[in-house]
Amino acid sequence: MTRYNSGTSLPPELRTAIDRIRKDFSVASVARTAGVKLVRTGNEWKACCPFHDDGTPSFYIYANERRFVCYGCGAEGDVLDFMRRAYGGSVVDAIRALDGGELGPIAAPEPEQPRKDWSKLVARIWGDSQPIAGTPAALYLRNRGIDMDLPDCLRFARLVPPKTPGNGLLAANGPNPLPALVAAVTGPDGSLVAIQRTYVTEDGRKAAVIATEQDRKPKVKYSLGNVRGGAIRLGPAAASITVCEGLEDGLSLAEGLGRPVWVGAGTSMLPAITFPEAVRSVVIGADNDDAGRVAANAAAEAYVARGLSVRVSPPPAPHKDWNAFVMATRGVTA
Ligand SMILES: [Zn+2]
Repeated sequence: MTRYNSGTSLPPELRTAIDRIRKDFSVASVARTAGVKLVRTGNEWKACCPFHDDGTPSFYIYANERRFVCYGCGAEGDVLDFMRRAYGGSVVDAIRALDGGELGPIAAPEPEQPRKDWSKLVARIWGDSQPIAGTPAALYLRNRGIDMDLPDCLRFARLVPPKTPGNGLLAANGPNPLPALVAAVTGPDGSLVAIQRTYVTEDGRKAAVIATEQDRKPKVKYSLGNVRGGAIRLGPAAASITVCEGLEDGLSLAEGLGRPVWVGAGTSMLPAITFPEAVRSVVIGADNDDAGRVAANAAAEAYVARGLSVRVSPPPAPHKDWNAFVMATRGVTA
């Protein structure tokens, strides 16, 4: 398969063509031509997602119409990522189709398959995990500038990397267990619904990853289980809750505010967090970039629709997120 984003491995003519396509074609114009019905919302567009069976609009186009993200299925990217998802094929096929001006309607997404039931495996990994104190997971959080007493929803385990072919964590480390920070993802009723793993090294750094053809943006964080609607609860349910997208940001906020912070398990999961009735108002600890702003706005819209009062609170510029802000103010380097 042709790579879309890697600059160095591409022939210069193709590189130039890709840059031209990204400039000439916005995601909004291409989506509209492909039959997606866009509705204006603030500076963004939203629509029912063309890539999953979407009952309510979860699909947003932002960053001056250059990027898209779906808070239902997690699809995201630029105009070429949109083309690949919509029509398949290589980047060259996408460029030809766009230049030829012949985009057909996108095939209707498959109805959602029943989700695999991961609950037994989730319960087993959580049950086998150990308290976080004194482990590489605790060291990792200290290295990220987090000094607070760590809550019980964070534990430690040695876990194998995901076995999907081409996985960048597997490619860098091999198939043996690696140290991992394990976070409990709690459902609206307070039960364990999923875990989030952050793979680390023995000396408390992020585990190594290698970009591969199948895993162009390799990551160290993975969820397991039904994360939708759930949150990593770094504090009890209260009348006012602060939410954010990343575990490290959540801990930085919890430490700074001394108030309950809940973390969405995975990017694009913030708007789906479902709160128990005791929660009346939500402060969104947003990331300070385009993606963060659109996520915060989507979450704000979803929470307001459920009758919650909402405030959006990004870290002061130029800091990208709350953890970066805390690290910078303390002079910690990642
Ligand atoms: Zn979607």
